[in-house]
Amino acid sequence: MKNSLIIANWKMKLNSSESLDLAKKIKKASIKYTGAEVVLCPSFTELAQVREIIKNSDIKLGAQDCFWEEKGSFTGEVSPKVLQDYNVKYVLVGHSERRQNLGETEKMIHNKVRFLFTTEMTPVLCIGETFEQRQDGLKDVVLTRQLHSALNGLWLNKSDRLVIAYEPVWVIGSGQDIDPDEIEHTHQIIRQLLYDLFEDKVVDEQIKIIYGGSVDPENVAKYISQPTVHGVLVGGASLDSTHFTSIIAQTKKL
Ligand code: PEP
Repeated sequence: MKNSLIIANWKMKLNSSESLDLAKKIKKASIKYTGAEVVLCPSFTELAQVREIIKNSDIKLGAQDCFWEEKGSFTGEVSPKVLQDYNVKYVLVGHSERRQNLGETEKMIHNKVRFLFTTEMTPVLCIGETFEQRQDGLKDVVLTRQLHSALNGLWLNKSDRLVIAYEPVWVIGSGQDIDPDEIEHTHQIIRQLLYDLFEDKVVDEQIKIIYGGSVDPENVAKYISQPTVHGVLVGGASLDSTHFTSIIAQTKKL
């Protein structure tokens, strides 16, 4: 049985009391589901309160983004060191919504991953092609470029971990299912690309590849049963405690 990683990305979809209520419900239900690693990524403003709710449970705290320096004149940004003080364990980096809507560049993404390797937190590097890129046969080119630009010149020390979240942009938030064989094939390509960048042992033992894109209680079992899918990044379905705990429960059984 694999110890799958299940990350909830709440985006900017909830107000404060909705976030806290959801965290409480997930904590209550998750007590039964030890074995899978569950991470909640609320907005920055709710990190402290969600941390209090999930303490004394196996649920971990994640952040949806961070800056790439510890401190300085960076108005509006959040320091990775502050996130670490909040007991954040995982940080999403390079989500397609930030790449597309906020002009996040590959250089910025590289800098964020690089800084996170100097902390005790694990970067969750999001990569994925758009529908047009896929139609033009550019999927592999895009994934190669995104991985190389984010990770070139970086290395993992023994205690470092890295998560790659493969998220086809055209599937995110669409409610579409995708052929699990295609996910498996793409994860194998990503794995090969990682072997070009890091030692085999590092790839095998320190890097997980997870899938994200309209994952829900109906499709999660077929995705997670693929050998190279080490977990899921869940947006919409993580906003409903019943759906999200069903995803955890199904993941746990495998
Ligand atoms: C996401 O935004 O990372 C995501 C996977 O969203 P959804 O599950 O809603 O497609």
